[in-house]
Amino acid sequence: MKQEITIALAGNPNSGKTTLFNAITGAHQHVGNYPGITVEHKEGRAVMGERTFRVVDLPGTYSLTAYTQEELVARKFLAEERPDCVVHVLNAGALERNLYLTVQLLELGVPVALGLNMMDEAEREGMIIDVPRLEELLGSPAAATVARTGRGLETLMVKAGELADARRDERWKPLSISYGPDLDPVLAAMAAKIETGGMLTERYPARWTALKYLENDESVLTRGRNADGALSLELEAMAAQVAEHLQATLNTYPEAVIADYRYGFISSVLKQGVLSRDTHAERIAFSDRLDRVLTHRFLGPILMLLVLYAVYQVTFTLGEVPMGWMESFFGWLGDTATAILPEGLLQSLIVSGIIDGVGGVMGFVPLIMIIFLMIAFLEDSGYMARVAYMLDRVFRIFGLHGCSVMPLIISGGISGGCAVPGIYAARTLRSRREKLATLLTAPYMNCGAKLPVFILLVAAFFSEDKTQALFLITLGAWTAALLVARLLRSTIIRGPSTPFVMELPPYRLPTARGLAIHTWERTWQYIKKAGTVILAISVLLWAAMTFPGMTEEKAAAFDARTAEIAAQLDAARAANNEAEIASLQEMAERVEFTRAEETLRDSYAGRMGIALESVSRAAGFDWRTNIALIGGFAAKEVIVSTLGTAYSLGDVDPEESGALSDRIAADPHWSARTAVSMILFTMLYAPCFVSVVAIRHETGSWGWALFSMGFNTVLAFTMATLAYQIGALV
Ligand code: GDP
Ligand code: MG
Repeated sequence: MKQEITIALAGNPNSGKTTLFNAITGAHQHVGNYPGITVEHKEGRAVMGERTFRVVDLPGTYSLTAYTQEELVARKFLAEERPDCVVHVLNAGALERNLYLTVQLLELGVPVALGLNMMDEAEREGMIIDVPRLEELLGSPAAATVARTGRGLETLMVKAGELADARRDERWKPLSISYGPDLDPVLAAMAAKIETGGMLTERYPARWTALKYLENDESVLTRGRNADGALSLELEAMAAQVAEHLQATLNTYPEAVIADYRYGFISSVLKQGVLSRDTHAERIAFSDRLDRVLTHRFLGPILMLLVLYAVYQVTFTLGEVPMGWMESFFGWLGDTATAILPEGLLQSLIVSGIIDGVGGVMGFVPLIMIIFLMIAFLEDSGYMARVAYMLDRVFRIFGLHGCSVMPLIISGGISGGCAVPGIYAARTLRSRREKLATLLTAPYMNCGAKLPVFILLVAAFFSEDKTQALFLITLGAWTAALLVARLLRSTIIRGPSTPFVMELPPYRLPTARGLAIHTWERTWQYIKKAGTVILAISVLLWAAMTFPGMTEEKAAAFDARTAEIAAQLDAARAANNEAEIASLQEMAERVEFTRAEETLRDSYAGRMGIALESVSRAAGFDWRTNIALIGGFAAKEVIVSTLGTAYSLGDVDPEESGALSDRIAADPHWSARTAVSMILFTMLYAPCFVSVVAIRHETGSWGWALFSMGFNTVLAFTMATLAYQIGALV
């Protein structure tokens, strides 16, 4: 049988020494972090493979200077007991800092085996340590370990045993690293003197003692003086001289230089392929750290609101410019068509029916693209999943699910989305009931088509600050969605809520390609709506608002009036009367607008609007508003343009609705309470036609699609009436 091997466990505090000690010796000791718990060294016995070890748990130290009691105890043990091997337990996750002690152990010359402990944590952090390479560079055996589970301990002990056997009969071989041009020559000279004088050489290698003199190590100095007073004085003088020199030239002192060179040595070892990072695991570790802040109980929701508000701001700030371009383009297109086509039904159909209808939708494409781009960014980066995770707790109260967040946000939860892609986004919901509740409430959000209605009314009755007002309206939409969800989930779609089991993906930087695809998919659904359904609806609405037209006599009267003005205009032109010309032109325009209004009143749509007035009056809506809102059943985009026609203003540009809002503000039928009533109605009533089709598609039944139309309209009318009637009281 082989000789018993004495092993000293060294290492930084908290590197897992005690755990490792207990694991290999089977001793049952308390594993704790009380300072000084291991100052009295503990011993145990371990049998590993065919070797028996006497294991001594040294106090945890960061260094081998003489500053603390622990360091002195550890050093004394090593020098006096001369263990066969030191097993240095390192925290592998903080390799650089931990190797500082390794270097000092190696400088002392003691055979060192490295236990790269806490490897589990290091791996989770994405660190890859090339153990053979480390062994090669340091000349010490090493093993990756997890003291808590016992992984690698056997390997470590076998390697330690082999090292002890190999080095048993040799002198300790101290590692000699360079301390630079200032210290190296002095160190060499001092070491030579120490060697020749035999000072403490039975305990410490000569160069180590010389280093300690440079470090001004009290303990070694005392020993040195006792061993050889004269030599010690000489060494102290040399140390003082080099210290003075360093102070004068580099404004530093030997200990600092020594520490610098040790760290330099360590970092060169690590850089030579020992330490690398696994990018996947690193990303997960990075995500975990980021999540500690971003999904923090209190900080998380605050940050989330800031992020959403920033998205809101950016959308409206950035969106303004390209939206202007789109409007100018469709304005130009309309003007050109008017100029080219002869006056009459065809011109009216193309300009008022097609270009205005489709242009109204297309005008919002830039805004919608920007918001979808930002949503795609939040989604692709992994943040949206966190938003869902955080909001799950709140949504649960209302019978929704964390996964309901995306559909609601896409539908216009931040303002300016579109319910159609929003409804398709509800596919991630696994519970049918929660999905249904989400589908039915997503259309309450402020989609891009409702915005111009809100902007118009806010400008007419409340303030010019549309951002703030829209923010309030957005909050209102969320409140409505959550309350209705609660109502539906307590009545017709009652059932348990499902747990949030979504895996939070690691954060990643979205790729331009991914963003482009996601943005485009959703924007395309919106554009398709403009190209197909809205086109058809615009034509239908145009027809409903044009036919059957006014009576012959009425038309004749208008014709006569127009001819009369035209004649006067010719006369004024002949007389070159500028003022007269201007006033007559204005008059002609007014006649034309009045004629449009009268045509509308007499049209099918007008008759329907008038017929509905008896009911709609409860909510404050007159026949003109009724026509606009009926158009809104098809698509909310047509509300503002229809109001424009109804109020004899000709075509109204949704964004530059200043004239219409002045007109409405001045109209006796309108007041602030009518505006509130109309905002509520627009927010809540039947989803647009394309959304209804999408709901039918996603639920697989016309039942729910029709329910959504009916229920929402009844709810909207009730709320609008309540607001209007209560408004009358206050
Ligand atoms: P000592 O101060 O060096 O004696 O360290 P301890 O043995 O007291 O360990 C400090 C803490 O680290 C304890 O909570 C241990 O359970 C834990 N620990 C020890 N080794 C490992 C390991 O390999 N992996 C992990 N994850 N934790 C460890
Ligand atoms: Mg301990």
